[in-house]
Amino acid sequence: ACLENDISGTDNKGFKGHDMLAPFTAGWQSTDVDPLIIEKSEGSHVYDMQGRKYIDTLAGLWCTALGGNEPRLVDAATKQLNTLPFYHSFWNRTTKPSLDLAKELLDMFTAKKMAKAFFTNSGSEANDTQVKLVWYYNNALGRPNKKKFIARAKAYHGSTLISASLTGLPALHQNFDLPAPFVLHTDCPHYWRYHLPGETEEEFSTRLAKNLEDLILKEGPETIAAFIAEPVMGAGGVIPPPATYFDKIQAVVKKYDILFIADEVVCAFGRLGTMFGSDMYNIKPDLVTLAKALSSAYMPIGAVLVSPEVSDVIHSQSNKLGSFSHGFTYSGHPVACAVALEAIKIYKERNMVERVNRISPKFQEGLKAFSDSPIIGEIRGLGLILATEFANNKSPNDPFPPEWGVGAYFGAQCQKNGMLVRVAGDAIMMSPPFVVTPEELDELISIYGKALRETE
Ligand code: PLP
Repeated sequence: ACLENDISGTDNKGFKGHDMLAPFTAGWQSTDVDPLIIEKSEGSHVYDMQGRKYIDTLAGLWCTALGGNEPRLVDAATKQLNTLPFYHSFWNRTTKPSLDLAKELLDMFTAKKMAKAFFTNSGSEANDTQVKLVWYYNNALGRPNKKKFIARAKAYHGSTLISASLTGLPALHQNFDLPAPFVLHTDCPHYWRYHLPGETEEEFSTRLAKNLEDLILKEGPETIAAFIAEPVMGAGGVIPPPATYFDKIQAVVKKYDILFIADEVVCAFGRLGTMFGSDMYNIKPDLVTLAKALSSAYMPIGAVLVSPEVSDVIHSQSNKLGSFSHGFTYSGHPVACAVALEAIKIYKERNMVERVNRISPKFQEGLKAFSDSPIIGEIRGLGLILATEFANNKSPNDPFPPEWGVGAYFGAQCQKNGMLVRVAGDAIMMSPPFVVTPEELDELISIYGKALRETE
């Protein structure tokens, strides 16, 4: 049940959640667990139906980067709704906000030059789009066998059929006949959990790059189209890469003419303390996936950025192959694009990257100070993203029995004390809004400490 969080709401004035087939929710058909119904948001806080206030340490789902009540985003949406609530971007017709947003994203992403932006409604759709782009690209190049994807164990890339296949979490595969056969998974780069005795981070990275190369050679490099990775793994447990990891992985991928897709859905726009995760780890991707903070979640939108090398092939061959027949009614939705443009304007005007760097030591050091707790195995993270892993004896090899539900219990204590965290088994994840204040961080750290004492 690694993606499930069964902490119930109480006293919902008769409202039940049972009419809804709720995402990632255990026992949705049962009547004994009431949902927590959130009604209002303000800064880094949300309020439930009874007016109880919670600090929302996950920024919704890693996405409300500008917090819960940014009036400029509301104004941008309202203005666009009043002017042009919708027009599509098919057949060489489009709208100004979508063109402006494409240009803005291409200018902003400087880790590697990007030539085109494609819009979707979500991160999952953006990753599905990546697969279709890569297949179209290899068909255009006359390489019909170069179609397999390599992703990583514990990656999260979405929950549609293809993006769930890329995802490396068993809960998204079992009972759905996934992953699709063209997807392979290589090692999760979690040093604490998987390093061998005496192995340094650099040696661990070398071993993982070697394993990746062995997998490519076993399958045949002529069959492997792309490698996809989050700069810092998010939903799989907030796993920053070990030292030298991406240098070594990129060298292998390049050697076999395999495209690199950076899934920046969680990392982009400042969360790590750089504008993009690719900037933090010197990643030179061929394709980039964006969503979440792109609009600070005030409207659903995702995007794919395509390098000139890939887009040139697609454009030059499209006469032969036929048009790139892929897209959604709402690709480039003008209201979502207008909101995203305003969010980006705010990130820039308020120097959000610098702000994250200024405030994140308080978040990181304040929480890592609890590392000595006898029930904590590891606290890891950077910028405004962090996970706590509960374990016996500080050891990844000595987990608590799952039936004890240590993570879920800690999450419940947090909720009782006015704080919402993301529980996944015995890992607790946090990624507060970029605008989280020092006072809100004091509150977050204080509730964390209280919930920890109650759990110990
Ligand atoms: N990629 C990453 C790294 C994510 O964290 C997520 C969602 O959490 C997705 C893709 C999927 O995005 P969405 O839920 O918008 O489809």
